[in-house]
Amino acid sequence: MSTVEMTTSNQDAKLSQLDVLKEYPSRGSLQQFRLVKVTTFTCNRCNKEKTSKLVATEHGNWENLMCNGCYGSVLKAGATRRLVEMG
Ligand SMILES: [Zn+2]
Repeated sequence: MSTVEMTTSNQDAKLSQLDVLKEYPSRGSLQQFRLVKVTTFTCNRCNKEKTSKLVATEHGNWENLMCNGCYGSVLKAGATRRLVEMG
């Protein structure tokens, strides 16, 4: 019996947990991703359970995912530099 080796190489391991279809440009500390499959997760911001293909991370932390709605409102509230046009 061998124990499964845990890799601590952050990003690669985390990105492979969820299949990312598209990676959007980061906005400040936030970055949004479109996943290949619909994923259920608990938003770190509103604490609601969300089912979506769109997730956002803050500071690249995949353990605290943010929903699309919160991502938008944080961007709006944060207004880092000038507003970037969506889409
Ligand atoms: Zn949320």
